[in-house]
Amino acid sequence: MRMVLTGPGRLVVENGCTDAALPETGFIAVRVLCCAICRTDAKMWAEGHRDLVMPRVLGHEMVVEDANGQRYVVWPGQSCGACRCCLSGRENLCETMRITGFHRDGGFADRVELPEESLVSISKALDVRVACLAEPVGCVINAFEKLIPHPNDRVLIYGAGTMGLITAAYAQHLGLVPLVIEKRETKITRVTPFLSATGIDCRKKTREGEFDIVINACADYMALCNGIEKIGRGGQLSFFSGLTKDEHIETNLINLLHYKEVRVTGVYGLTRAHLVKAVAFIAAYEATLSLLIETMVPAQTAPDLMPKVLCGDSLKYVLDFREATPQH
Ligand SMILES: [Zn+2]
Ligand SMILES: [Zn+2]
Repeated sequence: MRMVLTGPGRLVVENGCTDAALPETGFIAVRVLCCAICRTDAKMWAEGHRDLVMPRVLGHEMVVEDANGQRYVVWPGQSCGACRCCLSGRENLCETMRITGFHRDGGFADRVELPEESLVSISKALDVRVACLAEPVGCVINAFEKLIPHPNDRVLIYGAGTMGLITAAYAQHLGLVPLVIEKRETKITRVTPFLSATGIDCRKKTREGEFDIVINACADYMALCNGIEKIGRGGQLSFFSGLTKDEHIETNLINLLHYKEVRVTGVYGLTRAHLVKAVAFIAAYEATLSLLIETMVPAQTAPDLMPKVLCGDSLKYVLDFREATPQH
């Protein structure tokens, strides 16, 4: 079984056998146990993407199992290994990067072919739903590795989605003091179990300023604008989420980065090393992170879930492929 995006809004469930040809050199065919739906998947479902060639099997936040029963999470790419970025250990910026679930078919299927070197093994004891968070956690680790945090630094995070809350949890893990800003009251209510379990503070807005670190974990450009005003002198800005296209940010605001000598770091995706670190973090905080899972559902319900994921009111939906019809 696999789910193929054939055009905007058209996610087609295909049951039965697919081509059983041997995988290319360097690739391995593995069974998908489960795959989370990322907001990026929902956006591609809704609008497509300039570089997305359809039909395409989406999905990159997956847990897979090989023929020996070894489980893995997946670094969602295939890098060349030879360009300047690859050679400097920043393969997420590879000039010819091919992203799984975008350039190649991904994890919305009961079987997938992946570059062998993209697999990172995990313990069978780890909750597979939580293991699906390895990729987003790895992105967060990438963000913090680019910052220079000091103990008890106050960290302002915009957005209480899965990304924002993982960011807050990781900040806490590093001994920092996170505050999450979420403009939707319903969302704050929805994430209360996570906030209570972690003691993380989340509000609609704050009067406080002079934050040491600001991180935008949502695409709203106004959040970034507010964040720039809230950074203290000599503070740091992690430009973590890309922004909604074609909006305008005033130069007066950008000048604040200059006057306050803000250290700005861009963050895009993750390296394989970040994914390895993410697995260790997830194992240590498994119970807490499980509160970020909305629910695990039968894989074929994915088409109905896309609008929900797109509107962003829910936490992480995980598609269960273990009961899906085998392809062979
Ligand atoms: Zn994702
Ligand atoms: Zn490269």
